[in-house]
Amino acid sequence: QLGVADLEAWVRRCAELVGARAEELTALDAAIGDADHGANMRRGLTAVVEVLDTGTFSSADALLKRVGMTLVSKVGGASGPLYGTFFMRMGASQQDVQSLDACRLAEAVEAGVAGIVARGRAAAGEKTMLDAWYPALEALREHPEDLGTAVCAAAQAAERGRDATESMVATKGRASYLAERSVGHIDPGAASTALILQALAETVA
Ligand code: ADP
Ligand code: MG
Ligand code: MG
Repeated sequence: QLGVADLEAWVRRCAELVGARAEELTALDAAIGDADHGANMRRGLTAVVEVLDTGTFSSADALLKRVGMTLVSKVGGASGPLYGTFFMRMGASQQDVQSLDACRLAEAVEAGVAGIVARGRAAAGEKTMLDAWYPALEALREHPEDLGTAVCAAAQAAERGRDATESMVATKGRASYLAERSVGHIDPGAASTALILQALAETVA
């Protein structure tokens, strides 16, 4: 089960991993965007850690909403509102819940992903973070019986999804300005999503 403290540990691990890999994320964005994805994510998650350091949260919902709102307010790029909405919707789907089992986690991620779609209007195959989120969500749904198995499978699926963006043509976001020339590069948002799922797998392990 993922309790409130585990969710907090997950978000803190996200900040560590993204911080350590920020240059890589920015390099991916330099190829098909404006070279700021690593910096955007690091700034947002640093602010999130500061918020976590100062507050205590009584429920999964309260914690995740606060994380999401902080990302929306601190990240200027497209990724801020998208990830912010993800965490806010994830929280809103679990009102007054103290801990998530594999089933509830799949439900929560499903709600978060629906938020990304509502905000960004992208579909699978458009070379965005959704191409990592969708396979991860599918993997979670395939393992409702065990949280550890579910998050491991989800992290691996997200990495495969990230890698699959390399051959896609971008049709949403800044990378779409390059059209066919976006082929041959991994989407930076799909790469940060894979790190978020890796952080989750490490937290549950
Ligand atoms: P910006 O493009 O504004 O500089 P970032 O570089 O931080 O913002 O984030 C870019 C990432 O956001 C892309 O790699 C992609 O994964 C994601 N993204 C952009 N637009 C959309 C969208 N409409 N739907 C889903 N994800 C998107
Ligand atoms: Mg960018
Ligand atoms: Mg930008």
